[in-house]
Amino acid sequence: AHLDRIAEIDGELGAFLHVGSDEALAAAQAADDAIAAGDAPSALAGVPIALKDVFTTVDAPTTCGSKILEGWVSPYDATVTAKLRAAGIPILGKTNMDEFAMGSSTENSAYQVTRNPWDTTRIPGGSGGGSAAALASYQAPLAIGTDTGGSIRQPASVTATVGVKPTYGTVSRYGLVACASSLDQGGPCGRTVLDTALLHEVIAGHDPRDSTSIDVAIPDVVGAARAGAAGDLTGVRIGVVKQLQGEGYQAGVLESFQSACKQLTDLGATIVEVDCPHFSYALGAYYLILPSEVSSNLARFDAMRYGLRVGDDGTHSADEVMALTRDAGFGPEVKRRIMIGTYALSSGYYDAFYGQAQKVRTLIAGDFAKAYQDVDVLISPTTPTTPFKLGEKVDDPLSMYLFDLCTLPVNLAGTAAMSVPSGLASDDGLPVGLQIMAPALADDRLYRIGAAYE
Ligand code: GLN
Repeated sequence: AHLDRIAEIDGELGAFLHVGSDEALAAAQAADDAIAAGDAPSALAGVPIALKDVFTTVDAPTTCGSKILEGWVSPYDATVTAKLRAAGIPILGKTNMDEFAMGSSTENSAYQVTRNPWDTTRIPGGSGGGSAAALASYQAPLAIGTDTGGSIRQPASVTATVGVKPTYGTVSRYGLVACASSLDQGGPCGRTVLDTALLHEVIAGHDPRDSTSIDVAIPDVVGAARAGAAGDLTGVRIGVVKQLQGEGYQAGVLESFQSACKQLTDLGATIVEVDCPHFSYALGAYYLILPSEVSSNLARFDAMRYGLRVGDDGTHSADEVMALTRDAGFGPEVKRRIMIGTYALSSGYYDAFYGQAQKVRTLIAGDFAKAYQDVDVLISPTTPTTPFKLGEKVDDPLSMYLFDLCTLPVNLAGTAAMSVPSGLASDDGLPVGLQIMAPALADDRLYRIGAAYE
């Protein structure tokens, strides 16, 4: 049914870069057989999924939305991919994304535009716009995204779906093509909080093949989602982040946020305002740390090891082939960030830029730690506005960056957060998301409160 749905509407929406019908049907049949034999590999066995094209798969190309990897097929599955297969979850296909996960609208994909199912003239969010659009249009009941600065939560917000950025280190990055290694985290996307929790349980867990994976018990997110569904938040303390509201936010978004606060209070929670003074510097710190890591990580695309090779005709040196390939294979946003990062890391500038940004990062983590002494979770709108028009910000990278204002602090601190649908804005009728943030390894709180609220 989902493959039929994809065939019917994805021509218009552009969520998928690759659909693996035969592989998905075979996996679905295998799951059905296991269930019939009384041996279901997981609660989600047979329920298909859309996978962001930044996770490696042995049976489909992995492009990361970039021409430099066009047609490249990985010799190994990412740990997340392997866990989905082991759980009997058929992979429908690979979803569109901003090139190497850099962007907020999926317009930086080298391949195609993805449209928001709520209004096809608008962006589906980014970088994981393909996964969110697939979910919102019922092409897939579950999806996987990655969140480096908001790329799971922000697309969830603008498509009225649920998206979770788990605590850093709890979902393996093995086989997740790196954007910024200290920020990247894979995570689950669904249409309900419980669906998302079931998927979270499948993909999380320690992985010895990822040196930043932490070896701890994953909180009981499914139990928390079930408990939250009863709708009782008595005793829960919620902080509203003062710095993540007010000027620059759309009136309809703020109105929806106020009614969310009222609803949470009605469910029994106590709400207080919390000051996180260093959040105002999150955007500046993020756009030094991320490009620095990008400039290092993307050095591996050197025309020798993977994918595209341009100018290899006997008349060019290896250095020239590398330069020609990178010029042809990378899009403008990727080049911009490689240049910023290379500059920020160069000797003489390192302390002034990268070193300073790392100090700000520590201060932001400190703001969170202080806030969580008094409250269980923090909340804010997920995005300052509802989805903007396709093309509106493509020539203005700074205004594009500002769309992620509310989601970036969590990545810098390595903590956990969810975006849960918060109705439609009264001024333009488009989806709004509520962001719930929790301390590291308290991901279960997101699910309890999210399920009570949805
Ligand atoms: N939009 C942010 C960026 O462009 C976040 C991207 C992400 O989370 N992958 O860097």
